[in-house]
Amino acid sequence: TKPILELKDVSKTYRVKQGLFGRAKPLTAVNQVSLSLKRGEVLGLVGESGCGKSTLSKILLGLEAPTAGQVLVDGEDIGSQDRLSLARRIQPIFQDPYSSLNPRKRIADVIALPLVVHGIGDHASQMQEVRKMLDIVGLPARVMESYPSQMSGGQRQRVAIARALIMKPEIVICDEPTSALDVSVQSQILNLLGDLRQEFGLTYLFISHNLAVVEHLATRVAVMYLGRIVEEANVGGLFDTPGHPYTKALLKSVLTPEPGLGVPDTQLGMAYPNPIDPPSGCHFHPRCPKVMDNCKTLAPDQVATPEGHVECHLFTSKETSQNVSNPAMP
Ligand code: SF4
Ligand code: MG
Repeated sequence: TKPILELKDVSKTYRVKQGLFGRAKPLTAVNQVSLSLKRGEVLGLVGESGCGKSTLSKILLGLEAPTAGQVLVDGEDIGSQDRLSLARRIQPIFQDPYSSLNPRKRIADVIALPLVVHGIGDHASQMQEVRKMLDIVGLPARVMESYPSQMSGGQRQRVAIARALIMKPEIVICDEPTSALDVSVQSQILNLLGDLRQEFGLTYLFISHNLAVVEHLATRVAVMYLGRIVEEANVGGLFDTPGHPYTKALLKSVLTPEPGLGVPDTQLGMAYPNPIDPPSGCHFHPRCPKVMDNCKTLAPDQVATPEGHVECHLFTSKETSQNVSNPAMP
């Protein structure tokens, strides 16, 4: 079956000016990323803030154009699709629903907004759809008259989900959808997202800095570091036998007693590098506990694994030593 969402060598470079008299320098937020999602799959995209995952989600929503590469939805280039057909295929659920919901609009109008923007149906049919969506996300019809400020964080997240699903999309980009919520509310929302996926056959790209959150829903996980996917694997394989030292560090950090705080710098030795001035060779080398001499000068190639792929010299050198011991190889 052909993928419902496919990224082929997608890059996004910005020109960023540093300081008042500084020259503009290129910042590669997304660096030749290839991903592929089948219908009904949940791909968890994990990385620290600054890794490029938000830029990637903007590209998928058509809010930013890639500098290079292609995004295909249902086999069609995202750039050639009009806004309405794209909105019917991909919808976002963002992190902080409070800032993404207009505080002066009633909940009914917040949820109906995509229908209003795209001129779908009259007011009566739009309100009927809103009632249906409220029921689906587990909110009572009476909240239609409420305002976002009168609702709890979890209720607002349900509103954001209702607004996304009212367009009956095939793909939902969940960008840190539970990061602003208490842990108990988090799991309610994750369960709801899981149920909705089953009921409507949805495909999710689930973006988070927290591997523990991703584990609930994801079928596969891609780990992003300074614009690159450094490892991708099925969720079981990634948690049981992580390959990349960065994946291992992320896993360690979710086992520490501060869930939701991201990666404590103590685990990784130092702060996340500035993407405008990435480290040479393997971008992870200054923080890597396994760093070798060639890591500092040579960027590792992507190596296929039984579960997916990984980008690290620990894997390339294994291959090399096999080749060296094979007399048939030069
Ligand atoms: Fe660490 Fe080297 Fe692998 Fe990079 S290539 S993750 S520095 S071992
Ligand atoms: Mg972000």
